Amino acid sequence: MSDNATGEQADVIVLGAGIVGVSAAYAARQRGLSVILVDRREPGSETSYGNAGILSSGSILPLNAPSLWSALPAYMSNRHAALRWDPAWAIRNIDWLVRFLANAAPSRIKPRATALHGLIGASLKLHREWIVKADAAQRIRETGWLKAWRSDAVGAAKAEQALLAEYGIASQLLDRQAISALEPNILPAYKVGLLHTQTASVDSPGAVVKAYARMFAGSGGDIHQSDIKAIVPDGERWRVVLADGGISARHVVVALGPWSADVLRPLGYRVPLAFERGYHREFKPNPARSLLRPIHDTEGSFLLTPMEQGIRVTSGVELTARDAPSSFAQLDAVVPVARGVVEFGEAVGEPWRGARPTLPDSLPMIGPAPRHSGLWLAFGNQHIGFTTGPATGAAIAAMIGGATPAFDVGPFSPSRYL
Ligand SMILES: Cc1cc2nc3c(=O)[nH]c(=O)nc-3n(C[C@H](O)[C@H](O)[C@H](O)COP(=O)(O)OP(=O)(O)OC[C@H]3O[C@@H](n4cnc5c(N)ncnc54)[C@H](O)[C@@H]3O)c2cc1C
Repeated sequence: MSDNATGEQADVIVLGAGIVGVSAAYAARQRGLSVILVDRREPGSETSYGNAGILSSGSILPLNAPSLWSALPAYMSNRHAALRWDPAWAIRNIDWLVRFLANAAPSRIKPRATALHGLIGASLKLHREWIVKADAAQRIRETGWLKAWRSDAVGAAKAEQALLAEYGIASQLLDRQAISALEPNILPAYKVGLLHTQTASVDSPGAVVKAYARMFAGSGGDIHQSDIKAIVPDGERWRVVLADGGISARHVVVALGPWSADVLRPLGYRVPLAFERGYHREFKPNPARSLLRPIHDTEGSFLLTPMEQGIRVTSGVELTARDAPSSFAQLDAVVPVARGVVEFGEAVGEPWRGARPTLPDSLPMIGPAPRHSGLWLAFGNQHIGFTTGPATGAAIAAMIGGATPAFDVGPFSPSRYL
C-alpha cells in the first residue's frame, strides 16, 4: 500500500475498493496494465461488507418486476417489512420513481432478465476461480440458497422455477418434509421451498473482497487509502485529486458504489442513482442448531445467512436519501420472526446499514462515459453487486484493453441515461 501518492502515475486508477472496484483493478492488472486502487477505507468495508453474501445464480428478476404492482397497495401503508419509503424523498425523486415503476412492465422482464443472466453467469465463473486463487476457498459454500414460503404458495414457487428453467437455471421444489431434511435444525415454519441449487454463498463477504484485494496487490497492484475529492480531465489524461495529493492516469474507473454519482456531477453527468437501503444484525448461533445455507423468508421479507461471526439477519428495502439517519424499524420487526425459524442467541455487535445503488431499470452502468474519453463507469449493481462485481470489473478491464467482454454489455451502456 502506498502512503503518499502525490505525483504517482498509472495506466488505470480505480476509484472505490468495494467488490466492483477491486475486481476491475485485479482484472486490469491481469491484462498487464499498471493500476492504482483508491479508497478512503480498507477494501470491502462498505456495502460489500454488510451484504448477505449470496452468490446468486437466479437473481435475474429485479425488484421492479411485474409482481411489484400487486404488492404496491400493501407497501403504501409504509409498515411492510419488505419496503419502507420516505414520503419527502419520494416527492423529491418522483422522476426516478416513475422510471423505476415503468420498468416493472411485463414487456421489460425478458430484456433485463437476459442481460442480468449473462452478467451473473460470467461473474459466478470468476468468483469460483478467484476465490481459490485468493486463498479464500474455505469461505465459499456450494449449498445453494433456500427461498421459503409460510403459506401454501406452490403456484408462486412453480412460476419462479419455470422462469429460471427458461434460462437453464436449476432449482428444486420442496415440501415441508423435504425442507426439514435439507435444513434439519430449523423449526417447521415453512410449507413450500425452492432451492436454488447453483447458488453459492460466503461466510464473510468483506473478507472475500479483502482477499481479492491482497491478490491484486500480490500481482503488482498499488492500493492507496485516501479520500477522493475530484476527478479532472488533464489533456489526454485524468488527474484524481485526493485529500493527500494528486495522481494521474490515462483511464479512470468510477466504482464508488452508492457514492458514484457525486464525483460525476461536476463533469456534467446527472446520474439517476437511488439507494435501496438495507440493514443487518448478527446473532450468536446455537452450535446445536446451525444453518447450512442462506434462507430467504419470502413472506417475512428477511434473509438469514450463517456467517463467520454468527447468524446475519438482513432486512428489506428502505427508499430514502443515502445519508438519512438510520431507522431500525424493519430490522426490529423481522428479528423476532427470524427467531421462529432458527434458534439463535444474543446480538453480536451493532446493527449495520448499507445502501444498494440502483438505477431506474435496475441494471448497472458498465462502460465508457459518453462525453469523456478514458472515463469508465462501473456501478449501480443494486441487490446483486456482490454476485456481479467480478464480471462488472472484468468487463471494464476488457474494454480498456480493447477486448470484448465475456457477456453482452450493450444493455448496461451508461449512454442509456447520460
Ligand atoms: C442489506 C444488503 C444485502 C445485500 N445482499 C447481497 C447478496 O446477498 N448478494 C449480492 O450479490 N449482493 C447483495 N447486496 C448488494 C451488494 O452488497 C452491493 O450491490 C455491492 O456491495 C456494491 O458494491 P460496490 O463495489 O459497487 O460498492 P461498495 O462496496 O459500497 O464500494 C464503494 C467504495 O467506494 C468508497 N468510496 C466512496 N466514496 C469515496 C470517496 N470520496 N473517497 C474514497 N473512497 C470512497 C467506499 O469507501 C467503498 O469502499 C446487498 C446489499 C445490502 C445493502
